[in-house]
Amino acid sequence: MTANRLNFRVEAEAPGSRARACSFRTLHNDVQTPIFMPVGTQATVKSQKPESLAAAGAQILLANTYHLLLRPGVEVFRAFGDIHRFMTWERSVLTDSGGYQIFSLPHSRAITEDGAVFQSYIDGRSILLSPEVSIGTQMAIGSDIMMVLDQCVPSTSERPVVEAALHLTHRWAARSLAARGDSPQGMFGIVQGALFPDLRRLSVDQIASLPFDGLAVGGLAVGESKDAREDMCELTASLLPRNKPRYLMGVGTPIDILEAVHRGIDMFDCIIPTQLAQRGGVYTSRGFVQLRRGVHKFSQGPLDPTCACPTCARYSRAYLHHLTKASEPLGWQLLGEHNLWFYQQLMRDIRASILEGRFMELYRERREFLGVPDIDHEIARVRTRPAPPSTRGQYAVKVAPEGFGLILHVASGETMHAHTSPIEEARALYVGQSNLRDRLRSAAAQGGSDEPVVVWDIGLGAAANAMAAIECYQELADEPGTRPLRMVSFENDLDALRLACENLRHFPYLRHGGPGGLLERGQWRSRRYPGLEWLLVQGDFREGIKRAPFAPDLIFFDPFSRRTNADEWAAPTFQALHEACADRDVELFTYTTSTAARVAMLLAGFYVARGKATDVKTESTIAFTRAALESGAARRHELLGETWLSRWGRSHERVPAGLDEAAQRQAEGQIRAHPQFSQGSAGTR
Ligand SMILES: [Zn+2]
Repeated sequence: MTANRLNFRVEAEAPGSRARACSFRTLHNDVQTPIFMPVGTQATVKSQKPESLAAAGAQILLANTYHLLLRPGVEVFRAFGDIHRFMTWERSVLTDSGGYQIFSLPHSRAITEDGAVFQSYIDGRSILLSPEVSIGTQMAIGSDIMMVLDQCVPSTSERPVVEAALHLTHRWAARSLAARGDSPQGMFGIVQGALFPDLRRLSVDQIASLPFDGLAVGGLAVGESKDAREDMCELTASLLPRNKPRYLMGVGTPIDILEAVHRGIDMFDCIIPTQLAQRGGVYTSRGFVQLRRGVHKFSQGPLDPTCACPTCARYSRAYLHHLTKASEPLGWQLLGEHNLWFYQQLMRDIRASILEGRFMELYRERREFLGVPDIDHEIARVRTRPAPPSTRGQYAVKVAPEGFGLILHVASGETMHAHTSPIEEARALYVGQSNLRDRLRSAAAQGGSDEPVVVWDIGLGAAANAMAAIECYQELADEPGTRPLRMVSFENDLDALRLACENLRHFPYLRHGGPGGLLERGQWRSRRYPGLEWLLVQGDFREGIKRAPFAPDLIFFDPFSRRTNADEWAAPTFQALHEACADRDVELFTYTTSTAARVAMLLAGFYVARGKATDVKTESTIAFTRAALESGAARRHELLGETWLSRWGRSHERVPAGLDEAAQRQAEGQIRAHPQFSQGSAGTR
């Protein structure tokens, strides 16, 4: 197999437009363009069976190399032969290279000439994703079209960053081609260059000079405006060679696709059809319809009378409205099926119009309704908004007599805070007490560090602690010498934050770009303050601590109490935390005063001190590392001493639960011998 793996042909070009109809042949089927490829990230298009995708007319599915490399892993694909047999999909598959995930997921950072090192979100392993590993994985997956590994940067990046990424992408492109060898699988190169026309030109020169089977426009739809994207897409497409397929990665809505076809693009992929379906949104011949709206409650008609999909053939709007309101998975599935048909039908209509020489006619006609909201149920200018939901998962919103919102854990009846608003308590107990302000300022001025201050926020909850820290940073950000702030929030159940975000009136501190970004993408970077970054580590805390990307300077430890979250308060958690601190100068703040928690901290190797009062307790707890004691950072804290020790001696929580007698004796001895008691307060024993 050599040069012409896809046997690509241009069949027709539209007069007055760059739109074109083409065809090519993969290892599995004939493909006709313009084409929309549904996204099957995990070897599945969310909520859809492969047979419905085929029935809708999908010719190629996109699958994500990065995710499939982590799970199920290449061995499974090798055992099955390829992804086609594994997921029972007989048509073509295009695999991306993992470049976009390196860019967008939080657990990766280090990018070198070799490749990108990232940490598996499944088991925490460090993995090097190099061009060779990416292509090797794509070969094992057995896709029809492989993508080269590229370095994607935000489209709004500074020129030197874009330039460096572009040259690296070019060198990786050559290595990717070499790694393919004589495999019959097709391979596409990726053009980068963000929003710099001359860099786009340079990138096309570099990438188009290599023997790829197709070319993709990368680095768009990652933060720029719609106009900027369309201009850059038009320019790039005009520079690409005529005799190869052109693929615009990650785009888009139906109107985006129509506009890009007009500008000369042949191939598209996007998660929108199924993602919108999950939220009750559908595209129809009468504009964009939101099924959650009450106007559909009694509607016996179909979603879209002009649509031939199985959903429109069988179900009423009222039933689909009901399924959506009740968050039933069938609603997601049926609406997703309709949206995917809508996309495929749009592509068929576009192609037919190009072949018949009337694309511009269709373009003008479709532009009128593709981008518009529901024509038949115009959204009134003034209307009363439905009340936001007051419960979600295990949580409910409660409004305190003072007017601020509280998140209640329904099963235990426990609230996150009681008499003080959550943000007030966060400011006092965590941000104030930790001297975060001074840490952020301790930079260059005093010959100190300009490394980021890393705050671990364990138990994100409704994000009060994180937002209080972010507030503190924003107040200082414009002062010269302020260190960057990196928030790392740990949470296993995001419903509390989601619920609070749906009730902003009661949680006004969440009116900020951060929480939404965190919920949507697991990370957020401030445009306004380049030094501000927020990452989410999802899942079990103890596992999260082990795979968190940055070691902490400060820890805000604020999960729900032991009654609801026994595991998170157990000794192994503090053990893992102490290990994560290594020999760094770290202080931990928590609201608890429980003996069991303090014992766990002491046994883990922390020094433990009394923290300031909370609204319901006369004290809280501070733990810190030996390095913090030695550096002087922790000298201001009042260590627990003789009084606590004698109270401890009478407590029934002297040692962690579940130890046998010998281990109990050993743990007790360890507490008594802790340097905080044996040296710090000499003569107490
Ligand atoms: Zn339909």
